[in-house]
Formats: sequence, structure tokens, C-alpha cells
Amino acid sequence: MHSVLISTYEMGRQPFGLASAAAWLREAGSTVTAIDVAKDRGRLDAAMLVSADLIAFHLPMHTATRLAEPVIAKARALNPTARVCAFGLYAPLNAEWLRSLGVDDVLGGEFEADLAAIARSVDVVPRRTLSSQRTEECDSSSAISAVKRPLPRLQFLVPDRTGLPPLVQYASLQMPDGERRLVGYTETSRGCRHLCRHCPVVPIYNGQFRVVQPEVVLADVAAQVAAGAGHITFGDPDFFNGPTHAMRIVDALHAAHPSVSYDVTIKIEHLLRHRDLLPRLADTGCAFVTSAVESIDDRTLALFDKGHTRADFIEAVALCRDAGVTIVATFVAFHPWLTLASYAELLETISDLELVDHVAPIQLAIRLLVPEGSRLLELDEMRRHVLGFDPATLTYRWSHPDPRVDALHRDIAAIVGMRLNVDRRAVFAEIRALARERAGLPPAPDATRPARDRATVPYLNEPWYC
Ligand code: SF4
Repeated sequence: MHSVLISTYEMGRQPFGLASAAAWLREAGSTVTAIDVAKDRGRLDAAMLVSADLIAFHLPMHTATRLAEPVIAKARALNPTARVCAFGLYAPLNAEWLRSLGVDDVLGGEFEADLAAIARSVDVVPRRTLSSQRTEECDSSSAISAVKRPLPRLQFLVPDRTGLPPLVQYASLQMPDGERRLVGYTETSRGCRHLCRHCPVVPIYNGQFRVVQPEVVLADVAAQVAAGAGHITFGDPDFFNGPTHAMRIVDALHAAHPSVSYDVTIKIEHLLRHRDLLPRLADTGCAFVTSAVESIDDRTLALFDKGHTRADFIEAVALCRDAGVTIVATFVAFHPWLTLASYAELLETISDLELVDHVAPIQLAIRLLVPEGSRLLELDEMRRHVLGFDPATLTYRWSHPDPRVDALHRDIAAIVGMRLNVDRRAVFAEIRALARERAGLPPAPDATRPARDRATVPYLNEPWYC
């Protein structure tokens, strides 16, 4: 029984989804080849696909899903009898489309046990015809069936990274002093307690979150540190969904590997609620906290059901500064409720808060994605802008009521382009000048203010897409 696991894109990280799946499949008795097409397309040869009994694709995000299409089609064409699975956050959201490509089984976020069960079933009766292969418990025929199903509580295995490209081939952490650190990636939890309307986690986890056992996380961290990692990204949708669990892990990480830094994602609401923990983050080596601010407009934040206000964001910035924690803000810069004036105001706020170096340029060009299952589609305020589902992009297309805003987005996207690792202040100044001109505002009275703590803003040198 041989399984081929395929990742197409994981934001420049060594694919955790493949490593976890590989551990479970190997324990189930399968031999495993794990291929990260983003780094090692050459390994994906026809002979390997033809000889596989099980071919499984990890689809943790939108870009990965779109990139997977030709690879799934190729695998199915070369090997009509293999069991083909898709797993990860974006698989159930696109179940119907994946089935049209020849995928047999669609698994959601907590996929490991189901994937291992499929491998065992293939092992018992190898190379069965497709029509007899699907099993009821693994057959999520639509996003809705995955949403309604209670999520399992798995006893995780330590991810097995055998055969994946080394960390040096992935994104690294650029420190302000010029040092570059190899980056490892793991997760201490999955899912989220919250129900933000624009978030792709919500249709799958529906307010649930699941923890990864601390001993598993710490063993995975230790293995990656042994492989050269000087920094660990914790990819939890929100690190403070379980703050006691989270702090236990970073305390242990810091005790075992005091020179290793880490980064986490924490929502504004949690930064305020757990403000007492922020100094401990700084003390345990937290290089930065990413926080999805999304907007500074309270009406838009309410439509997103984000759980914070503009004032909360400003307070969170101050709290992080006081605690010595670097906050990295992300935004949904373009959405149907934006105006030319409010985009210009967003830039002024970023400048006033001295956050220019804390915002990757791509964040200023992010346009709202509305995937299948998005809770935004519950709102008349969203539906009135939607033009229909686009199978080519796997999203609902929408247009802004003011075509000048869509034109501004195109021009901002062109400015950002692929200049993702250049001087952020230079790109920001260019964007700010254009935004003010389009909003009918005079040129900014000052050049972008020097950021107070620019020298303390490390960043991952990988473009951020969703
Ligand atoms: S807090 Fe973050 S991960 Fe959780 S639902 Fe909201 S956007 Fe998604």
C-alpha cells in the first residue's frame, strides 16, 4: 500500500498538513511519499502517480486549492483506479468541484483519522473501482455536511517530515539587525471559537476549536529546531482561543530552546482580554503577533462580526507597545463598504499609529474573498454586491458600487505587484500619494513619519496570500 501526499502551496512553509498526514498514514501501515509541489515539482513524476494506491491533496487555503486543479486532473488521468482524497480547510468548501475533478473523498480540518481509515480500507481491498470505494463516514458530499458534523477530538501524532524539502528552502525570518533565521511551522490548535463572517475557518469549524496535545507540539518544535529552525511560526487561527494551553507551550518552548523566537496570530479582542499575558509573550521570545485588524471602520467591522472596534485596535497597539510585543496588522483593505475617503483614512491611521513598517504592502491591496460557505452571504449588505459564483476562481465575484474604488484597487495592486520585500515605507508613500489624489485630498503634509520602533519589526520573507 503506497500513498502519495501532495501540497501545492502553504505560504512558504514546510507543509505541516503533509507531515501530520504522513505520520498517521505510516502508522496505518502505508509507505508514504510526500511532495511539496511549490518547492519540488520535479519529484511529481508520472511513474510515482501511476504506482500510488492513495493520492491525497492538502488544501489549507484558497491559493493552494486553485493550484491543485491541474495536479488533481493529471493524477486522476494517469491513475484512474487510485483512491484520490482532498483534505484541509478548503476541501469541503469546494467539495462539488473537487468531485468533478475525480476526487473520491473530501475531508475537512480534522482529517487525520479519516485519512488513515481510508488508507486501511484501500490496503484491505487494493485498487478497487471508484464507485465502491467511498465510505460513508469519510464522504463529505458537500460543505454543509462537513459543517454540521461534530468534529472529532484526535490524539495527534508527532508530524513526520521525512522526505520533505529542508527548512532552508522555505521562508525565513528577516531580523531587523540583518540576521536571517530558518523558520519552522506547527500548530497548537485548530479551528476557532469565533464566527467572523468573512473567515474561511467558520464554515468548517463552526465555532469549535481543537487543541493539539502539548507533548506533540513540543516534540514537533524540537524536531524542527534540531533541523535548524531558529524561529517557529504557530499557525493556529487564533493562539488565544485557549490561552492556558498556549502559554504552557510557549513557556516550555522558551525553557527548552531559549534562543528560539516564535510568532503567533491573536485577534484584537483577545489581545485586550488577555492583556496580562502580553509581557509573558515578550519574555518567552515572541518576535511578533499578527492580528487581523481587517478594517478601521466600525460599520464594516460589525458586518464582519469581528468582535472589535477601531478604538479596540488602537488600544491593542498601545498595549502591545507597552508590553514590548511587536504587532503586525493585516487588513481586508478593499470591500464593498470602502470609499475613496475611507481608504485614505486607513493609510493615515496606519501612519499616525507608526505602523507603516508593521504592515506588509500586500495587505494594502487585499480584496475581500467570498468563498463558498462564507457567512457574509447571509447579509443583504453583501448579497447586493455579489455577481455570482465564479468556478474559475472558486469565489463569489463582487463589484464595488463605486467603480472608482475597483479602479483604485487595480492600481494599488499594480504598485504592490511582487515588491513584497522592498522598503515598506517607500511602497506605502507611493500608495498614500495615489490614495489621497483619488480621494481629492492634498498631498500628505509630511513624508511618512519615521516609525518609532522600525528597528524591532522582523518579517517573514514570503508573500502573504490566503
Ligand atoms: S477570530 Fe480569526 S480565525 Fe476566528 S473566526 Fe475570526 S477571523 Fe476566523
